[in-house]
Amino acid sequence: MGSIQLENLTKRFGDTVAVEELSLDIADEEFLVLVGPSGCGKSTTLRCLAGLETPSSGDIYIGNDHMNYRVPQNRDIAMVFQDYALYPHMTVRQNIRYGLEEEPGYTSEERDARVEEVAETLGIADLLDRNPDELSGGQQQRVALGRAIVRDPEVFLMDEPLSNLDAKLRAEMRTELQSLQSDLKVTTVYVTHNQTEAMTMSDRIAVMNDGRLQQVGTPLECYHEPNNTFVAGFIGEPMMNLVSGTRSESTFVSDHFEYPLDDGLRAAVGDHEELILGIRPEDIVVRGEGDEAEPGATDFRFEVRVVEPHGDQNVLHLTRPGGDIDDALQAVTGGMHLLSQGEQVVVSIDPGKVHLFDAATGTALH
Ligand code: ATP
Repeated sequence: MGSIQLENLTKRFGDTVAVEELSLDIADEEFLVLVGPSGCGKSTTLRCLAGLETPSSGDIYIGNDHMNYRVPQNRDIAMVFQDYALYPHMTVRQNIRYGLEEEPGYTSEERDARVEEVAETLGIADLLDRNPDELSGGQQQRVALGRAIVRDPEVFLMDEPLSNLDAKLRAEMRTELQSLQSDLKVTTVYVTHNQTEAMTMSDRIAVMNDGRLQQVGTPLECYHEPNNTFVAGFIGEPMMNLVSGTRSESTFVSDHFEYPLDDGLRAAVGDHEELILGIRPEDIVVRGEGDEAEPGATDFRFEVRVVEPHGDQNVLHLTRPGGDIDDALQAVTGGMHLLSQGEQVVVSIDPGKVHLFDAATGTALH
């Protein structure tokens, strides 16, 4: 069983609280991505799981066994790091075989056979007699993976394993890693600050900030139902527009617009007055001035200040006419929907797509 429980895990380094009261249950065979900005405590959490750091308080269980005092070798885990840490003087075969070094119960022939089997799985069987400096970055990363999986561990711990690869290779390896994980059915905790990796690879995402868990859920839950403004801003590219304002009766009043709150939004807001309204760029509908109105949506006049063409889509920066560019809203339109800088447009915001947060705490109200 490779299930993992973290109970109130806290790790301090002097005055720095790297991880604070983190509780998380990870199911057997699950692929969980720990994501968050630099310094939020992802690697420290992983290192505590691996036994490379001792928790200041809290408990770690793998497969229901208490791990806090177990040395890394006895945790039945395998780690893959950002720098592949291959031994330069050893061949690929020897590097992978090294993963079995501490494993009892294998004959020499069985070790050789296991290395061959793993190399086949990873598509590097023809590279077994090369040295690491004769391999590309992607091949080296596969060897590092080979060394991790050769022992058939209960849990994989991966810390930014793809970040040294170029964008194309990273995308390829992302898919490979995912399919490898689902074939091997090994519980995986994968650390990244890259939200695309988090969204595309994981069964669930755990979003961290400042040492604290902000939300754990499927990628789509975190995208559609963010718990707070941090998750709302972190998940999604371009990021969600977050507009500060106040409630006046049944209207959200901001510098950008006065947005009428329908019954559903009004009920969610309750007595809160200082609010943040969130709307994803892809949920803002942009039309030319003469186009037909969107049924049920609420329309505002905006000016196109910047157009960023991405081919398949355009990212627009919009302000109220003559408004400050620093306060621009971002909207996404299809790549063929051509608008020019300075053009006046009508923007519709569907109440069904609006998120509302309490401004004081950032907590989601709707
Ligand atoms: P990154 O994405 O940059 O690797 P991270 O989210 O993995 O960041 P951690 O490496 O876990 O973050 O660091 C969390 C906090 O703990 C940071 O403030 C960091 O400076 C601090 N920290 C981590 N390791 C140590 C250490 N050995 N001694 C002192 N402080 C540390």
